[in-house]
Amino acid sequence: MIGGKLLRFVAALALLVAGTAGVGAAEPWVIVVHGGAGGLPSDLPDSEIAAVRAALNQALAAGGKVLAEGGDSLDAVQAAVHLMEDSGVLNAGRGAVLNHAGFAELDASLMRGSDRAAGAVAAVRRVANPIDLARLVMDRSPHVLLVGEGAEQFAREQGVVLKTADYFITPRRQEEWRRAIEAQRRPGAGAATQGTVGAVALDGRGNLAAGTSTGGLTNKHVGRVGDSPLIGAGTYAQNGVCAVSATGHGETFIRYTAAAELCARLAMRGEKLAGAAAAVIEELHKAGGDGGIIALDAHGQIATPYSTPSMLRGWWREGRAPEVVVEVGKTAAL
Ligand code: ASP
Repeated sequence: MIGGKLLRFVAALALLVAGTAGVGAAEPWVIVVHGGAGGLPSDLPDSEIAAVRAALNQALAAGGKVLAEGGDSLDAVQAAVHLMEDSGVLNAGRGAVLNHAGFAELDASLMRGSDRAAGAVAAVRRVANPIDLARLVMDRSPHVLLVGEGAEQFAREQGVVLKTADYFITPRRQEEWRRAIEAQRRPGAGAATQGTVGAVALDGRGNLAAGTSTGGLTNKHVGRVGDSPLIGAGTYAQNGVCAVSATGHGETFIRYTAAAELCARLAMRGEKLAGAAAAVIEELHKAGGDGGIIALDAHGQIATPYSTPSMLRGWWREGRAPEVVVEVGKTAAL
């Protein structure tokens, strides 16, 4: 009897410790961002390459500022993703890729590692910053994922001003769409795509968070939803374990629940971040789905493996200089 009580007490204590792992530990903060699997096409004007680099740097700066001021990792992730959605040069928010019908449909999600709260939206057509709407779903609704019309109705209820379809369309995406349609008149035909955005962060109190935002794949079927807004597939965060944001062939990332799989390897098999992240990407590659992930563990270790020729990415660790990697000419069809 006493033994049973003791056991339950120890189990409860273990749960409590696991649930708050890292909190109060005054870890150095870290933020990692990505601008999508695949590098930039070599025919891209220098001005646009510079704009992509600037977008990643600004995203790191925005997220890093939140963390440096003692803010929350979830706010840092949201700030970084919001900036990349506004950049006009990445596949999220304004500048997102176009579906088979020639307009943008956007997906986004975010997750807080301390209590595994999450919010997501999918197939929204008129929301400038889907990551902010995902946050509103998390904070102000009893739901995790809202889609399409219903998500936009919720946006209006929350006072979000909706845009017209033109706001999202840039000449570069229109040209990519035209080429994809010409090459193959079937929705979903593998067109090169770059620029999905994401961020993961660890704040000074040991809280992990992750967020991802995308227009999906060029020439996708109307209504197609990828991995980015699906918790466990494109986005995942669990305190004491890891935070993940994915990019790549969404269908494969969904089937393999890529982001959750990485955290599960750490939590249940005691694997180290770098090896586990590389193994997940290798497994997806073998299944025919290329892409990459950015991941952070509870100690601030970073992993950014990818099976595409490149991945736009950057990181900033407290006390160090921010770094950004933007490679040109290493593109991939997902
Ligand atoms: N994973 C995204 C999707 O399938 C696309 C990407 O990351 O480029 O919607």
